[in-house]
Amino acid sequence: MSARKPSIRTCIGCGRTEDKREVVRFVRTPEGTIEVDRSGKANGRGAYVHATLECFEAAIRKHRFASALRANVTEDDVSRLRADVEQVLETKGTLVHKDGDA
Ligand SMILES: [Zn+2]
Repeated sequence: MSARKPSIRTCIGCGRTEDKREVVRFVRTPEGTIEVDRSGKANGRGAYVHATLECFEAAIRKHRFASALRANVTEDDVSRLRADVEQVLETKGTLVHKDGDA
């Protein structure tokens, strides 16, 4: 029962896989909009992005949210999500870009 594989998710920004604790989950609501899933447990179609702004921006640039979540992503959605992501990253302490181990 407890011998489950680690939960690996694919980041839609860079395409690399990652343990699910290292990614931010986005979910499509029943209304067809995209929200940051802070609990990681919301129902609905989900997509995962590394907890970095780089991967978030890459996912936006490549229109990955629209295809992964089959939702329309407007400019307003992008700015709302970006603000939410920044908040989440601040909480996680990963907002500061790290260059190596310094
Ligand atoms: Zn990534």
